[in-house]
Amino acid sequence: MKKRGVILSTIVQKYGGTSMGSIEKIKSVAKKVILEKEKGNDVVVVVSAMGKTTNKLVDLAKEISVNPDKRELDVLLSTGEQISISKLSMLLNYMGYPSISLTGWQAGIYTEDKTENSNIKYIDTKKIKQELEKGKIVIIAGFQGINKNGDITTLGRGGSDTTAVALAAALKTKKCYIFSDVDGVYTADPNKVKSAKRLKNISYKEMSELSNEGAKVLHNRCVKIAEKFSIPIVTQSTFSSLTNNEIGTKISKKIEDNNIKSIVKKEVSRISIIGNKIINNYEIIEKIMKFIHENNIELLNVEIDETKMTLTSKNELGEDFLNVLHQVIFEDSSK
Ligand code: ADP
Ligand code: ASP
Ligand code: MG
Repeated sequence: MKKRGVILSTIVQKYGGTSMGSIEKIKSVAKKVILEKEKGNDVVVVVSAMGKTTNKLVDLAKEISVNPDKRELDVLLSTGEQISISKLSMLLNYMGYPSISLTGWQAGIYTEDKTENSNIKYIDTKKIKQELEKGKIVIIAGFQGINKNGDITTLGRGGSDTTAVALAAALKTKKCYIFSDVDGVYTADPNKVKSAKRLKNISYKEMSELSNEGAKVLHNRCVKIAEKFSIPIVTQSTFSSLTNNEIGTKISKKIEDNNIKSIVKKEVSRISIIGNKIINNYEIIEKIMKFIHENNIELLNVEIDETKMTLTSKNELGEDFLNVLHQVIFEDSSK
């Protein structure tokens, strides 16, 4: 292993659930991390929960209640990333590369008060820098932070991308590398459209639209932060043996004229509440709208007439949402 001599630069890499799903995959992650360390860089690694762990944690919470306490839900959901950071750090240490895992709060990631979909307010990089100074690879839990009350918060599903870009901004790195199971951003989801082609470049504006419309490859908020701080994002595959840092897709301010980039399909959700004279039932309308607001549901349209109120949401709302809404409308109103 190289001693910490002259440091070329600080590199921020992020590996998502698709890269952390098994010990074999975590070994591929370790190889990519070591490659950068061996070049003489300081390496900060952000990781997500293994595979579908976060979905399983959501199900665990739903075993208790369809509408679990929001603070406690964030405490539960954030545990997935804690497993990942410790495993990767154990592996790197075992392979002879000193490393340390840090949770969101240990890494100084401060967020707004709100839970579930919180925004990062600032990052105190002191601890991260101290550990880099010691020559360690620093592994940070994505998707989580701490608010001013000392409570754990989470950043919304897919939020580890945002952790990585926010860290790249705070550490003033030249780029932010996001690794997943695909080697870049494609003309359509390559797991659904076999003939999709990889893009070499895409602008922040185009990528932000793509993420907003449901292309999972990057979290929408991370693209906004990258644009604000002018940090190019490079998306690459964890499982490619190619080592050139320039392969993959670069997301930057560069705009290519008259160039169609990608197509994406998003399932919108339509929910209707039926009942005579609903149009005059201000109490229930207010209750529903308050619930929608509190749960960060983005509405595309609201229609209301004598017997029906229909909400069309941008988010895909699952059965658990239907259960909670049912509780809000029927069980709460019968109290
Ligand atoms: P991770 O768990 O590593 O964060 P995600 O599942 O969030 O990975 O994002 C990677 C997935 O994004 C790919 O497996 C792919 O199916 C999906 N995806 C959707 N649209 C696109 C696109 N246009 N280009 C590349 N990947 C896409
Ligand atoms: N583990 C979190 C999720 O599944 C965050 C992430 O993957 O970025 O949403
Ligand atoms: Mg993701």
